Amino acid sequence: MISFWEREALVHYDTIVVGGGIIGLSAAIALRELHPTRSVLLLERGLLPTGASTKNAGFACYGSLTEVVSDLGRNTADNVLAVMEKRLRGLRLLRSRLGAEAMGYEEYGGYELMFDKEMSCLDRIGEVNELLAPVFGPNYFVVRSDLAYQFGFNTHEVRAIVGAPMEGQIHTGKTMRSLARFAAERGVEIRTGADVLSIDETEREVTIAVRASGGQSTLTAGRVAVCTNSWMSAMLPGICVKPGRGQVLVTQPIPDLRFKGVFHFDEGFYYFRNVGNRVLFGGGRNMAFDEEETHEFAVTERIQSELERLLRDVILPDTAWEIDMRWAGIMGFSDTRLPIVQKTSERIAVGFGCNGMGVALGSLVGQETASLIYE
Ligand SMILES: Cc1cc2nc3c(=O)[nH]c(=O)nc-3n(C[C@H](O)[C@H](O)[C@H](O)COP(=O)(O)OP(=O)(O)OC[C@H]3O[C@@H](n4cnc5c(N)ncnc54)[C@H](O)[C@@H]3O)c2cc1C
Repeated sequence: MISFWEREALVHYDTIVVGGGIIGLSAAIALRELHPTRSVLLLERGLLPTGASTKNAGFACYGSLTEVVSDLGRNTADNVLAVMEKRLRGLRLLRSRLGAEAMGYEEYGGYELMFDKEMSCLDRIGEVNELLAPVFGPNYFVVRSDLAYQFGFNTHEVRAIVGAPMEGQIHTGKTMRSLARFAAERGVEIRTGADVLSIDETEREVTIAVRASGGQSTLTAGRVAVCTNSWMSAMLPGICVKPGRGQVLVTQPIPDLRFKGVFHFDEGFYYFRNVGNRVLFGGGRNMAFDEEETHEFAVTERIQSELERLLRDVILPDTAWEIDMRWAGIMGFSDTRLPIVQKTSERIAVGFGCNGMGVALGSLVGQETASLIYE
């Protein structure tokens, strides 16, 4: 049962955004920028965003050489370049909104570790650089064979390193906190602990059933943007997005850590970086695709022990380290491996499928979702 006051001011909004990750927040901000007189409410079911945006590794990156080579086997060269350009533009948008300091942004560069099985990709570096040149400038990827020794990696395993100097890293927690504050300052109302159960469109508006601590309520909106990533299919059955769990660990501080930057290997399936003088290391989903296609926030012995093995044998072979924490987050993967922004009906738009690259892509995908919603 609602009160007169609630009916007058608290249950109807011009636009409601569902999902408070990086895409939802970015969509809500863009909606206020595009339509300053229209009210925007954002509903997030967790106390914190509970998907990928506060659980990720904080790589501000555009793609590695082996990933580009692999993508070229599945997609056209134009599509591959277009996605990388979106990552660049998305990150610029995020930085222009928040500023480097509020994001904890640092640019130590990105690097890919090349093992025996990847060495043949080096033959394609000229072709890939030529493809990327219109957006990233000449010679974007650079072979740096000296670095494996300098960084202290196991040089019997790591045969070469490919550098991408424009890549950086963020503090994920600070970034998301700043983004939520930025949204609130622009007039976005944010309600957490609001679990959206269903979304139904009528001729005049959209009705949203929400479960919160006080019970179930119904809100209405003129338009709705759904940005719930891998949980979207449950709400909008026509949309196909598959969950993919990402597991991560972080070490205790390591005195005299020998590298700084963001590092990937195995087509980006493994990734590590420095966080101050700690090492954050994640990945391994390709060891167990079926098991990791889940919404369960849990770490597994199988993947965590492989991460530890690689840390011990390849990344920090001569250094003592201890693990401080482990966690998991859930990504959303579209069929095409490309982000999707579309209207599902007259009043509802969706934006999702950053496929493990939402730090760079999320702001732009949110903006595109906001632009589409009143078309
Ligand atoms: C371990 C890990 C490491 C990663 N590392 C990187 C990286 O280094 N660089 C990079 O670019 N990307 C990385 N990513 C991917 C990146 O985090 C995601 O692409 C991005 O956060 C997706 O943002 P999103 O807004 O689409 O989804 P999410 O952040 O998942 O947000 C969706 C939100 O919807 C909410 N929601 C769901 N259902 C409902 C409902 N019924 N009612 C209300 N709210 C609901 C969820 O609680 C969630 O907060 C990583 C992901 C993981 C898991």
